[in-house]
Amino acid sequence: MNVPLVKIKHVSVDLLPNGDPFTVLDNITLNIIQGEVMGLIGETGCGKSMTAWLLLDLLPGNGKIKSGSIWFRGQDVTGSKRASLRGKNIAMIFQDPSRALNPVHRIGKQFMAILNKRYSFDNQQTRKLALEWIERVRLDSPEEVFQRYPHQFSGGQMQRLMIAIAMSLKPDLLIADEPTTALDASLKSYTLDMIDELRKEFNISVLLISHNLKLMGNRCDRIAVMYNGAIVENADADHILHKPKHPYTKGLINALPTGENKRLIPIEGSPPSRNIQQSGCRFEPRCADAIAICKSITPQLFKDSNGSQVLCHHFSEENKLPQ
Ligand code: SF4
Repeated sequence: MNVPLVKIKHVSVDLLPNGDPFTVLDNITLNIIQGEVMGLIGETGCGKSMTAWLLLDLLPGNGKIKSGSIWFRGQDVTGSKRASLRGKNIAMIFQDPSRALNPVHRIGKQFMAILNKRYSFDNQQTRKLALEWIERVRLDSPEEVFQRYPHQFSGGQMQRLMIAIAMSLKPDLLIADEPTTALDASLKSYTLDMIDELRKEFNISVLLISHNLKLMGNRCDRIAVMYNGAIVENADADHILHKPKHPYTKGLINALPTGENKRLIPIEGSPPSRNIQQSGCRFEPRCADAIAICKSITPQLFKDSNGSQVLCHHFSEENKLPQ
C-alpha cells in the first residue's frame, strides 16, 4: 500500500488581513504519495498557491488553520512544526524566479547562504556542492554563474537556477508553482523534463501547480481540481482528462483546444469573489447541471471504488444523473 508522504485532512483556512476573517481554503483533503507527481489545477485565485503556502507554514494575511490537520511522514505538523520542514523536507520553485532571489547579491553568495542553513559543511564543501548543482541543471561556466547577479540571467536560466537550489536541498517534496509560466514555449518542456528527471533519480514527490490542464495531463499521476477554495474533484490524471465527473472539470476539458477544428466551449460566468459561500454548492451559479438542492445544500465528498473523489450532489445515490 502507498503510504502518503503528506496528508492534508479536512483543512479550512481563514485569512485575517484587517482582523475580519474570510475563508480561503474550505475543507481541503489531499494526499501526496512518495515519488508521485500530484497536480493541482484551477483558475487564478482558487486556492492553489494558498495550499502550497499552507504546507510551508507561510500563509499570508495572518492566515490561520481553522480546522483539520496536516501530516508529514505520519507526524502531525498542523502546528508550527511545518516551518522546520522548509528547505530540508519541502522545497519550492516559484512562478516568477526573478522575485525569489535578492537582486543586490551575487548568485553564489545566495546559493551558499541557503545551503548553509541546510548542511553543516565548511565553505569549500558548500561551494563545491553549489557548483555541482549549477552544472547539473546544464548552465554553462558554473564559476561565472556564481559571480553574476540575478538580472544577468534569462527567465529560463533563472528557473534552472531555482531548480538547482531547490534540488540541492534534497527535499522529500518539491512544490513547483506554475514553474513554466514565465518561460518561452521552447523552454517549458525542457524545464518540466528536468524536474521529472530529478524526481525519478531522487524518488521525491512533486506537487505541480498550474492552470494548464493539458500540460498537467502529460506530467501528473493524479490531479486535484480546485474551485473557489475547495477541491471539487481528485482522481488519476487519465480519469480527469478522459472521464471527468465534476461539471467544472468537464467545463475545463471542453474549453481545451483539441487541434481538430472543434468549437471551444467556455465555462459561462466568472469565478466568485474571494469570499467562499457558506451554503450550497460554490459552482451553482455557473453550473448547467444544477438541481434544486444545489443552491441551499453544500455537497459532500463522494468517493468511488477507484479512490476518485468528487464534490457534487449528482454522485449521491438519490441524485445520480442518467448515464
Ligand atoms: S452540486 Fe449541483 S451545482 Fe454543484 S457541481 Fe454538482 S450539479 Fe453543479
